Amino acid sequence: MTSGVFDVLIVGAGQAGAMAAIALRQEGFTGSILMVGEESDLPYERPPLSKDYLAGEKPADRLLIRPPAFWTERDVTILPETRIAHVERGVATAEDGRLFHFGKLIWAAGGHARKLRCPGGDLGGVHVIRTRQDVDNLRADLSVAQRVAVIGGGYVGLEAAAVLAAHGKTVTVIEAQPRLLARVTAPAISDHYLALHRSHGVEVLLSAQVEALEGDGRVSTVRLADGRGIPCDVAIVGIGLEPSVAPLGLDGNGVPVDAHCRTAIPDVYAIGDCAAHANAYARGQVIRLESVQNAVDMAKAAAAHIVHGDAARPYAACPWFWSNQYDVRLQTVGLSAGHDETVTRGDPESGSFTLVYLREGAIIALDCINAPRDYVQGKALVERGAKVAPDRLADASIPLKEMQA
Ligand SMILES: Cc1cc2nc3c(=O)[nH]c(=O)nc-3n(C[C@H](O)[C@H](O)[C@H](O)COP(=O)(O)OP(=O)(O)OC[C@H]3O[C@@H](n4cnc5c(N)ncnc54)[C@H](O)[C@@H]3O)c2cc1C
Repeated sequence: MTSGVFDVLIVGAGQAGAMAAIALRQEGFTGSILMVGEESDLPYERPPLSKDYLAGEKPADRLLIRPPAFWTERDVTILPETRIAHVERGVATAEDGRLFHFGKLIWAAGGHARKLRCPGGDLGGVHVIRTRQDVDNLRADLSVAQRVAVIGGGYVGLEAAAVLAAHGKTVTVIEAQPRLLARVTAPAISDHYLALHRSHGVEVLLSAQVEALEGDGRVSTVRLADGRGIPCDVAIVGIGLEPSVAPLGLDGNGVPVDAHCRTAIPDVYAIGDCAAHANAYARGQVIRLESVQNAVDMAKAAAAHIVHGDAARPYAACPWFWSNQYDVRLQTVGLSAGHDETVTRGDPESGSFTLVYLREGAIIALDCINAPRDYVQGKALVERGAKVAPDRLADASIPLKEMQA
């Protein structure tokens, strides 16, 4: 395909792009849909990349969001290995010069794993985990590696650490903040994960600044600012995402969108990890969410607006997220940033408990550790901003569904 004219052009064949195409057809859209993506794969799910796919427990074809035939049956054309470099006035230009004219464009380009900018950041043996190809490269290296340094104690880094520790690797997690998961959880959850990883033999270094990666062609040491050297055969860098915004003529942390996922550019929507939106669960603050929930719900909102115009329901979904590490499943609902009080339900020592986040007495989020019932029942409390007395909330013998606002 050299160029073309499409009613809807979706840029990014990931979770959000795929769900947008699906939602358009579900909404009855009959126009032409082209989805272009820079990867070689059909749309696939990323969460297993740091979990069962890294562990070798899930084959690549089971990552696919839909089987190949689905896209043909729905008349959705997918063009892989095509990177859009520029979007202007109804035309998207690929890096190789091909032109794609569009009626509406859905920018679902996610982002790229942030790289370490210190000396040695591009040595051999230094990996990120964002794409299926990244994990294939990592796994090839791991087959001859014993010592793994994981730089970044966020969800992706910790999930990878858990998989590799369980596979007998010698794992060191290096986190710049004084606690794990500092950006997204309260200290009680950070402490729980610190103890969990240490109990599985993972060395966790906190408040540790990486100054350089050293080695002769391949990484062999992570050098910290205090002079310590962490020996390693492989380094995994999990320090976040840089959203893809430049081809839209933007810079900064995300593509600003309104409640229908429209950007300021006529006929251009942005959804998923790259979209910066005013989130009701963040008290209207403009944020980006990197989650399957956000990708799916924004895709639905954009598709509905393309089909139904302003009559479409705006994006207002309650955020949720999960993380699997060892035999611990964390399920989060709501956004905890800005809380002024936390309440613990259940005994953390038992391995199953929930941390409830409150702001001015109202429930804004829950982190449920091996506590699926609290997660399911707590969602409605977050959606309502329910106010429940802390001592009642703390009583794990009372189901959350019995706690009315
Ligand atoms: C390792 C890992 C584990 C995760 N675990 C969880 C989890 O447990 N729970 C959860 O809720 N979320 C999890 N997430 C987050 C979730 O996968 C993302 O939020 C989701 O994939 C976002 O979808 P997206 O379509 O916005 O972006 P992506 O899935 O990243 O898709 C964007 C696509 O656009 C392509 N692209 C970028 N620029 C261009 C361009 N200029 N031209 C063409 N194509 C382009 C990219 O290559 C990519 O294929 C995880 C993510 C990772 C990486």
